[in-house]
Amino acid sequence: MDDDTLGIADLAENCVSIGQEYTKKASVTVSLGGFVPKPHTPFQWFGQNEPEELRRKVELLRNRLRRNKRVHLKWHSPEASTAEAITSRGDRRIGKVIEHVWRHGGTFQEWSEHFDLNLWKQAMAASGLDIEWYVYRHRGEDEVLPWDHIHAGLHKDFLWQDWQDALSGYGIEDCRWTPCYDCGACTEYGIEHVVASPTPPNGGSQGTGQDLAIGHVVPVELRSRAKVGGTNA
Ligand code: SF4
Repeated sequence: MDDDTLGIADLAENCVSIGQEYTKKASVTVSLGGFVPKPHTPFQWFGQNEPEELRRKVELLRNRLRRNKRVHLKWHSPEASTAEAITSRGDRRIGKVIEHVWRHGGTFQEWSEHFDLNLWKQAMAASGLDIEWYVYRHRGEDEVLPWDHIHAGLHKDFLWQDWQDALSGYGIEDCRWTPCYDCGACTEYGIEHVVASPTPPNGGSQGTGQDLAIGHVVPVELRSRAKVGGTNA
């Protein structure tokens, strides 16, 4: 369950190790932010983590990296993630909530020194709305979502399947070299893929070397150090 959270530490430590092949002073700063599910993405059905859970995950990473002086952690307020989710996935009733926050002094809410979750809680309560219902609960396949009447190209059944795949940790192959999954991005807008090569780049998708068939291991080959004033050898 926490593997993906701890994977952030693994990634940072790997970056430091690679950097140390080039300079002993290599360090990495990790900026953490609670995940805010967005409309028209596979995670639009996901119930966002509550601030307590986000804080637990930050603590998990702090403990894991406590002795590593090369990795510096910064994190975004877990409470601010709740307000972001209210505005990201809210319906038209949230307009009044935003106005209420503003009328009660809630300007510059994106600045941490001005942000106040209590203002948002009061505004939601004043409008008879429930934060749990808007932000923290998982949504069902049959629920009509507030943005369903806006067409962004992607088919809702494709997004739902992608959400199910994400839950089971399954990744699909790059559609430039497989039959089309009919996600809607091209088919809705009459776009046709034209690729330079009939085969995927070495190792797989996106030119990153990622190969889903070998469990997402990314074979990285670093170029040798550039000489000062010269080009890479
Ligand atoms: S080819 Fe286009 S429509 Fe088909 S799965 Fe890929 S992005 Fe979606």
